[in-house]
Amino acid sequence: MERVKEVLQFIGLKIIGAGQFVWAHLKIGFKKLRKWFRRYIRKLIRHTKAKDYSLLIYTIIAIIVFILAIVLLGKLFSHKKKNKEVKTTTETTTEIITEDPAVEAHNQLVAQANAIYQNSSELLVLVNGSHPITEGYSFEHYTLNCGEDIDTRMHDDLVNMLEACNEAGNEYRIVSGYRDQAKQQQLFDEKIASLVAQEGLSQEDAEAKAAMTIQRPGYSEHETGLAIDISGLDNATLDESLASDPTVAWLDQNCHMYGFVVRYPDGKTDVTGEVFEPWHFRYVGVEAATFMHDNNLTLEEFYQLIGM
Ligand SMILES: [Zn+2]
Repeated sequence: MERVKEVLQFIGLKIIGAGQFVWAHLKIGFKKLRKWFRRYIRKLIRHTKAKDYSLLIYTIIAIIVFILAIVLLGKLFSHKKKNKEVKTTTETTTEIITEDPAVEAHNQLVAQANAIYQNSSELLVLVNGSHPITEGYSFEHYTLNCGEDIDTRMHDDLVNMLEACNEAGNEYRIVSGYRDQAKQQQLFDEKIASLVAQEGLSQEDAEAKAAMTIQRPGYSEHETGLAIDISGLDNATLDESLASDPTVAWLDQNCHMYGFVVRYPDGKTDVTGEVFEPWHFRYVGVEAATFMHDNNLTLEEFYQLIGM
């Protein structure tokens, strides 16, 4: 302990000694500089009074060069500092982009959608006005008591949903399940014929108008067996007013819990290409239906999300 104290004392003294030494020499140097400066000024005055301007000119040149040198050094230094600042700003911006909560949330949504697609791509088959059903598409049929056919994979969830709907005090009617292409063609042709007869439209105009309410053969979800039209028991006219029918309203609100989505929701016509059809339910499985419901996504928007 004593030894440590001694060593510390020694080091302390050395530092003080060095400080005193440097200070003494600085003082001497400063005195010498002051002396030289005074002599120089006197010499300058003497020469100038004798009309010898050379020293004065050299002095002025030296001062100008000195100032220029300082300015240049200053500029160089500030430029370097600016570069550093720009770099820091860029880094900060990058950080903000990667940590933007909206971007983060979107990336998370995409990852979730991709995982769901991996699990249930077969139930998520996309059929709409621009995506015809693949040729030779087939599935295991199940015939319901009412005579309509559905894809067997939809059966259990459909039964559970309709039972819950009944328990909530609502009576339903299954209007339409699977339609083969011939049936779809028949419906389409009937619609055209009625438009020609009742509204006097040309065949071409009638076809275009019919396609707005009935899908062309090959383009209807009903051909997949994964779509089902359900109305109230005594309210089987399929139009928008069904949205306020208690049975349909209950189904619209709860179907996602049983793996169904309202395939053509209100306000999404520009995305789906179809008018609001509160009666048309599409089976996609509970996981996908809940995801689409919670994030207000149509099947088209789901595919946009996963970049397909
Ligand atoms: Zn339908």
